[in-house]
Amino acid sequence: MDGIDWKARALAAEESLATQVKITAEVLERQQLTYEVLRSFQSNRCYACNWPLKATIQYGCTPFNCSMRPQESWPLYESWKKRFDELEQIHAALSAAQGKEQG
Ligand SMILES: [Zn+2]
Repeated sequence: MDGIDWKARALAAEESLATQVKITAEVLERQQLTYEVLRSFQSNRCYACNWPLKATIQYGCTPFNCSMRPQESWPLYESWKKRFDELEQIHAALSAAQGKEQG
């Protein structure tokens, strides 16, 4: 006996690979999302509705607050809601990341 538990090692390696694949997929997914949002920001447009961004919500959409708010019966509601929710998630993630940086 060499004292090494090869079966446990193989299992651990498999688990660590599965974890790595999962994390990488999540990161890639997020990057793709962020890239599209970034393009909206770079062209100074709201990611959710594509209207030009304004400084305050009184005048229109701000980077993380879409002022469009379509009614659920409107045909464009579904696609708007999807993007609006993505925007909220990104905002939350950004806020969390900033919170970590600031301690
Ligand atoms: Zn908007």
